[in-house]
Amino acid sequence: MKQDIKSMNLPELEEAMKALGEPKYRARQVFTWLHRGAKTFEDMTNLSRSLRARLDEAFYISVPTVERKQVSARDGTIKYLWRLRDGNCVETVLMRYKYGNTVCVSSEVGCAMGCAFCASTLGGLVRRLTAGEILDQVLFTGLDSGLPVSRVVMMGIGEPLDNFDAVTRFLELVNHPDGLNLSMRHISLSTCGLTERIDKLASLHLQLTLSVSLHAPDDETRNGIMPVNRSCGVDKLLETCRRYDAETGRRISYEYAMIDGVNDTPRHAELLCEKLRGMGAHVNLIPLNNVEESPLKPSTKEHVRRFRETLERAGIPATVRRSLGGDIDASCGQLRRKQILERR
Ligand code: SAH
Repeated sequence: MKQDIKSMNLPELEEAMKALGEPKYRARQVFTWLHRGAKTFEDMTNLSRSLRARLDEAFYISVPTVERKQVSARDGTIKYLWRLRDGNCVETVLMRYKYGNTVCVSSEVGCAMGCAFCASTLGGLVRRLTAGEILDQVLFTGLDSGLPVSRVVMMGIGEPLDNFDAVTRFLELVNHPDGLNLSMRHISLSTCGLTERIDKLASLHLQLTLSVSLHAPDDETRNGIMPVNRSCGVDKLLETCRRYDAETGRRISYEYAMIDGVNDTPRHAELLCEKLRGMGAHVNLIPLNNVEESPLKPSTKEHVRRFRETLERAGIPATVRRSLGGDIDASCGQLRRKQILERR
């Protein structure tokens, strides 16, 4: 069985070189090639032929292929469906903002969390991605599009904190000066709220932005749309968030998908204000994206406006997320879902 070389960090590559009887600096050469998107060891022309052959015997290089690619005529958003080594597919979206091109990556094939409004979870969790496979999405989206990538959001398919080790390893790789060298401050990670893992993440003191998918201020509403809430309610989640803030000095941003008649009433808005007061929280209101299989509908513009005003009156900054790529199924597992259904 060949080993996955792209998921290795520099110290591990140095160990591997040592085991092959090679000098330590070779590791950095290989690392640099991998992070520039080299697809074969053959391409690594500053290594001897014999070393390239020995690497090829022991390791494989993950290389996703473009299964589908859609470019939005409206705003230039590009959505990729990547086919992985084992045939599974994941989505990556490139969004073009004034402040830089942002890549939204998937962390898992499918998702086990079961949120009622989300297309990614409809077929359950198939498997977790490796660190290299998460990195590949950033790398090959940049290479294929020819666009420089300056920010990464972990808001694609999957629950990043359910794949903790691969995700934190990916962060180490993508941040590495000999690799893509992306600043942690340009990375956001979104979670449905796995509290023990949020504590574990806090202990790493990373300077990334943590987003928590709150979507409701009370257990009754949140239990109804997010099964994860049944094992840990809203109050315990927000306590964990306060600990995260204190431990890392980084404020959390809260996502709130607005669902007509479910979580968008004045009572929900007021309760949310009460729960977030004094936390320095920022709330991102996202009008729900329609998912064909789900009866849930987006809130009206009027209700979104009313909700936002209530938050602002309470001194809680709130923004309404601008929707990009609406013409290309560019959200939340929709393209992978379409592919699976068409294959049947
Ligand atoms: N598992 C992580 C990240 C994945 S999704 C999480 O739960 O945060 C990124 C964001 O999109 C989450 O806030 C998620 O709740 C939200 N989302 C999922 N489906 C959606 C939909 N149909 N409309 C709007 N937002 C949605």
